[in-house]
Amino acid sequence: MDPVLALLAFAVLAVLARLVALGVARHRQLRAPSLAAAADQRALRAREGGAPDSAIAVDSAAVIEPRVVRTPCPRCGGHVHVVEHGAALVDDHRGTPRRLRRVLARCSPCGRSFETWFEVRGTQLD
Ligand SMILES: [Zn+2]
Repeated sequence: MDPVLALLAFAVLAVLARLVALGVARHRQLRAPSLAAAADQRALRAREGGAPDSAIAVDSAAVIEPRVVRTPCPRCGGHVHVVEHGAALVDDHRGTPRRLRRVLARCSPCGRSFETWFEVRGTQLD
């Protein structure tokens, strides 16, 4: 066999083997969300501002995004950036909706996304 052809065939096989390995890893990830992932999710919700019930009180909406960006990723300590920031009405368990701010942030190094909840308690003009 031509050595160039053999080398080419080997390269193609190596790429195919890598693709199959990646596919299997992805399939496992989708089928069985691990206990560690569930615990990770609980830890994110348990931190201050990790859920509507523990929304962080602030005086102005203007301080929210700088605060999120200053706070390191709860998973790896990396730098995070804001993906979404909006208002949300959340039931306060007594039938009265609370007006909160929800920020979805993403960590640049580890790719983890997580939300942080805020309640603006400053003087509002509306
Ligand atoms: Zn991270």
